Amino acid sequence: MVRPFSDLKPSRPLIRPTAVAAGAAVLALAVVAWHQGREPLPVPLPAGVQPAKAPAPPQQTAWVTPLRKQCDRPDQSLRQRLTTLQRNLPSQMRRVSIDPSNYGERTPRDAYGNSVDITPSLVVLHETVYGIGSAINTFTTHHPHDHDQVSYHLLIGEDGQVVETLDPAKRAFGAGYSAFKGRWDVTNPNMDGSVNNFALHLSLETPLDGEDDGPRHSGYTGLQYDALAVVLANWMRRYRIPMDHITTHRYVDLGAARADPRSFDWSALQVRLAALGALC
Ligand SMILES: [Zn+2]
Repeated sequence: MVRPFSDLKPSRPLIRPTAVAAGAAVLALAVVAWHQGREPLPVPLPAGVQPAKAPAPPQQTAWVTPLRKQCDRPDQSLRQRLTTLQRNLPSQMRRVSIDPSNYGERTPRDAYGNSVDITPSLVVLHETVYGIGSAINTFTTHHPHDHDQVSYHLLIGEDGQVVETLDPAKRAFGAGYSAFKGRWDVTNPNMDGSVNNFALHLSLETPLDGEDDGPRHSGYTGLQYDALAVVLANWMRRYRIPMDHITTHRYVDLGAARADPRSFDWSALQVRLAALGALC
């Protein structure tokens, strides 16, 4: 089932003995004010206090990427079209400032005082369910309650328009209870972990016939796949993200409640990323 804008930051209480036994690191954080809509501030541990180990995420089935290595670029006209788009994207990309309640900072320490790498190393694909305007409206609206706060870094409309809604350096609230390849970051000792601290979230506008919670719809446009490939190739190069770290919300979600992006055509992405030389 897909619920519109249900891609929240972690909100399930963490009920684990390890969280209770985490000791001084947790106590140090407990006194830190929780800023509405933001992630907890990183706190240095007192001298001599060793960081407690963060709880590990539950087991997931292994992620098997549908993408494959491809070094030939047979489709020259496709390559030409995409490289033109690549050149024009910086000037054509629309940027929208969203409300600060809907995103946070990437935090270089977890809730237990351990250093974590905040370089984006994972791309999570989503769909908007409703139109792109509706998504932008949600992100620009102030949401005082944690469970309403949501954002992605980038939206791609049916017409191929690319809208950057959040700087990749910031932390989007795109997935709640989630993990990838045995990693999540627990940045609040009272909540479960999430991939948000190291993820880039990108959402495709859903076609009209997908504005429901059905299992599938008519899919995304060629213009969307063109723009998606250009953005992904850019992120892969910029952050050294390997192709098997492009995944879906359906996969990273540990609550088995998300199914997006539905009706995604990996072969349409494969041919375009290959044309851009991003899969070699
Ligand atoms: Zn999603």
